[in-house]
Amino acid sequence: MKKAFVALLVLLVGLVGLSQAKYVFMFIGDGMSLTQIKSAELYLSEVNNRDVNLLMTQFEGNGITTTHSLDSAITDSAAAGTALATGNKTLSGVINMDETKTKKYKTVAEVAKENGMKVGIISSVSIDHATPASYYAHQPSRNNYYEIGRELVESNFDFFGGGAVKSPDGEKGNFYDYAKENGYKVILTQDEFENYDPNGEKVIIFNEELTGAKAMAYEMDRKNTFSLADITKKGIEALDNENGFFMMVEGGKIDWAGHANDAAANIKDTIAFDNAIKQAYNFYLSHPDETLIIITGDHETGGMTVGFAGTGYSTYLGRIANQKMSFESFDSILSDYKARNASFEEVQKIITENFGITFLSSDEKASLKALADNGSKDAYDKLAMSVNDLEYKKLEQAYNMSWQEKVPNTEYSYLLYGGYEPLTVTITHILNQKAGISWTSYSHTGVPVATFAQGVHSDLFNGFYDNTDIAKKLFEIIG
Ligand SMILES: [Zn+2]
Repeated sequence: MKKAFVALLVLLVGLVGLSQAKYVFMFIGDGMSLTQIKSAELYLSEVNNRDVNLLMTQFEGNGITTTHSLDSAITDSAAAGTALATGNKTLSGVINMDETKTKKYKTVAEVAKENGMKVGIISSVSIDHATPASYYAHQPSRNNYYEIGRELVESNFDFFGGGAVKSPDGEKGNFYDYAKENGYKVILTQDEFENYDPNGEKVIIFNEELTGAKAMAYEMDRKNTFSLADITKKGIEALDNENGFFMMVEGGKIDWAGHANDAAANIKDTIAFDNAIKQAYNFYLSHPDETLIIITGDHETGGMTVGFAGTGYSTYLGRIANQKMSFESFDSILSDYKARNASFEEVQKIITENFGITFLSSDEKASLKALADNGSKDAYDKLAMSVNDLEYKKLEQAYNMSWQEKVPNTEYSYLLYGGYEPLTVTITHILNQKAGISWTSYSHTGVPVATFAQGVHSDLFNGFYDNTDIAKKLFEIIG
């Protein structure tokens, strides 16, 4: 009798679908897989001298998610975004259209909006970049930034925040004018952001401090403007209403730091992403029976790993703390030195200052080694942060390469520098290796990512499944 009742219940749930989650958060760490997460935890643990976990790894539901696109084992963010937002595989580079680039797919955010929920889209990179665009745009190419901006306005979604748009001007007029004509309040300064009290109107908030490609600054470079957590908090305030909401938040610069093989920038943006998740978690704590938080990565970037041939079974993630700024900021310092043809000796000083990598004489090394052999940890660490012969040669070679009029575009220089500033990328490689972190690519990789979930239906995200399954589950949950 009891069995029959359970069977009937299962059948009924199957017929009417899942009970709805009223508040749904989708967090996407661009280029974030298990190494990025684990490195951030190792770093935090080492600098705090105790075990520290990211909030996301403590969530009740967790799974492993495959990320391949229709045409490659290694996806890009457009195909991965399409999979996560619509449940369909497509070609790399395509946003929410099929492989013939004629049929458009509807996104979970669009369905949420149709169902009366408010919708918010946030990213630390430009808001028209592939991942955020995958929730509101439909384009044969992710590079159609102007058209993506038009679709942003036409989506009629309630909240957009983070980085700005890359191509505001085009044949149909200016993005900002179009947004205002369509009822959006547009906020572009930190002052306005701080004084903005959400009142139910549609709003677009772009960070005042924009760096390359209209993105927010790397977390480690950010000055006095809002963080990903700050804009997430504001978004929650703006979207909170009795019909519920769907919010997507992207930590986009984890990926960019991964492409550049900069572990410090990567780790700090992963921590900033986890801090944004904390805002959603605080909201969940006051609405535990109505809220679902999902966290995933769209793919891994850089082939980052915990471990390096030169450090064997040891890790020293705390050494990452020696880095004072992102590769991007260091590039701009370096360009001044390059402009006045500074010597390698002069450049060594700023390498020590900003990355903690030292250039000790053989006598200095010998006395530190004697102390280290006697058990001095301080001497051991100091010695470890000094360049060895091989590292010195690599830096000198990169300096010579950087100081040329133009870096030669050869297979050899690509393998060494990936198209990045040769000296900067050599410095981050060396610092990362000293910390026990290494990289295998300047591109994405095909390894699966981790997915975490907390709240209503979080159990649906346990197991091993494809990124398209996340959207399929969400369609059921949103109704
Ligand atoms: Zn990428």
